Amino acid sequence: LFTTRAPANLTDDQLLDGLLTNEFSSQSCRSRYEFADYHKKKKPTHSKPSPYLISKLRQHEAIQKRCGPGTAPYSKALRRLHSSSSSGDAAADSGEECRYVVSISYRRGLGNRILAVVSAFLYAVLTSRALLVAPYDGDLADLFCEPFPSATWLLPDADRHRFPLRQRLSDLDSKSKDSLGTILRKNDNNNNNATSLTYVYLHLDGGADFHDKLFYCDDQQLGLLRHVPWLLMKTDSYIIPGLFLVPSFQHELDRLFPGDVDKDAVFHHLSRYLLHPTNPIWHAITTYHRANLAAAARLVGMQIRVYHKETPPVSRVVLDQILACARLAHIFPPPPNTSVLVTSLNPWYAERISAGGEGEYSSLAVHQPSHEGEQRMGDAEQDRRALAEMHLLSTCDALMDTGFSTFGYVAAGMAGARAWVMPRRPWWEKEAAAEVPDPPCAVAASPEPCFHSPSYYDCAARRDYGDIGKVLPYVRRCEDVSWGIKLV
Ligand code: GDP
Repeated sequence: LFTTRAPANLTDDQLLDGLLTNEFSSQSCRSRYEFADYHKKKKPTHSKPSPYLISKLRQHEAIQKRCGPGTAPYSKALRRLHSSSSSGDAAADSGEECRYVVSISYRRGLGNRILAVVSAFLYAVLTSRALLVAPYDGDLADLFCEPFPSATWLLPDADRHRFPLRQRLSDLDSKSKDSLGTILRKNDNNNNNATSLTYVYLHLDGGADFHDKLFYCDDQQLGLLRHVPWLLMKTDSYIIPGLFLVPSFQHELDRLFPGDVDKDAVFHHLSRYLLHPTNPIWHAITTYHRANLAAAARLVGMQIRVYHKETPPVSRVVLDQILACARLAHIFPPPPNTSVLVTSLNPWYAERISAGGEGEYSSLAVHQPSHEGEQRMGDAEQDRRALAEMHLLSTCDALMDTGFSTFGYVAAGMAGARAWVMPRRPWWEKEAAAEVPDPPCAVAASPEPCFHSPSYYDCAARRDYGDIGKVLPYVRRCEDVSWGIKLV
């Protein structure tokens, strides 16, 4: 399964300036070392990964190898989970034992699931835990190559069912008795007896409540959670800006992503380290790129996400917004040999843009790889096409994204590009009454995804932050989601 034969002659570019290890064979997962080629002609908009990040990734690979499924420490940790049910003698831990974060994938779109696993990965690195993913219907195994050499990041299927949890992993929620929120709710005055748990469930999805979000406090990070061997994490968000607000992580995060320049490249570096599409998906990406996009002098990506509940799938106002944004961003009128890559569930927008926004730009080449009609959860084929399209968008010279959409966040983040973000129309507006927002779009402050459900609680001060967008110079409110925060 794994080969450790180092491929000859890998360049710094191919290794993403040291981000990637050269321990894999290049055939086993072509995207790993070929991805850089598709971004080479763009001028770099971001810094190189810091030497400290690179050394920390190599250390993390050693943890994954030492602790992963199939190793003695893994079997031991699993046995402990069994023998102690939910409480054990964690205090007796020696430094040699392994601790884990299990990222639980669940019914969410692919963009959400990607943000979740990248978040869990950084948390694992910060806390020296091995990362395991419990895939939802096998999704991640279908989509991505193994990221760590000589180790698997997939929680073995058999072990999924052997976790001594009453509910299956997918049923865990805020109310589960093993969730951090429940433990803290019960032990408001005294959580000393919680220090010997063998596992804790972290409910960090959009529905997390006040107690769940106490995860973002030093009291929990340095206390209750620190020695728990198994942490099970469920999130649909990019929680990383929330990790930057935890004081005890700040020193390490500042070494990993030093200065101001690197703070806006966290997702860029981590996603390119972790997420490599499998060979069949990579084949689809490169074939499409060669046939349709490679020859363009200027390639523009437009990610158009219209939410059915809110807007009819085809909206004249959304089209007008796209065209107005393209003019504002000086994308239109298009210079000769411009190609536009449209991603959308519906073919109508690309057809209208191709028709030249009613005739103005008739020389434009417009491509849309798929039009799926609607979003289908748990559809592996749709996931594969969505992943391919995120990658294709990331190769574009300029990007226009629909605000709020995690699909667009992933594309912009992987590219390391500041997209033009088109605010989503308020859901209560009737189509007939709706107007194109003014301005129709604005350039994002950074390529980083927005964290939609941060904690507003300043744990040290024991009250809410005055303005969560002003706590740190590199954490701001998002341009598209007023209650969210992002790294800039
Ligand atoms: P979000 O809902 O916009 O935040 O993005 P997600 O990626 O989390 O969920 C949307 C899902 O709908 C995707 O994972 C796809 O399965 C599907 N989808 C939405 N837009 C597109 C598109 O432009 N192309 C493809 N192939 N799928 C899409």
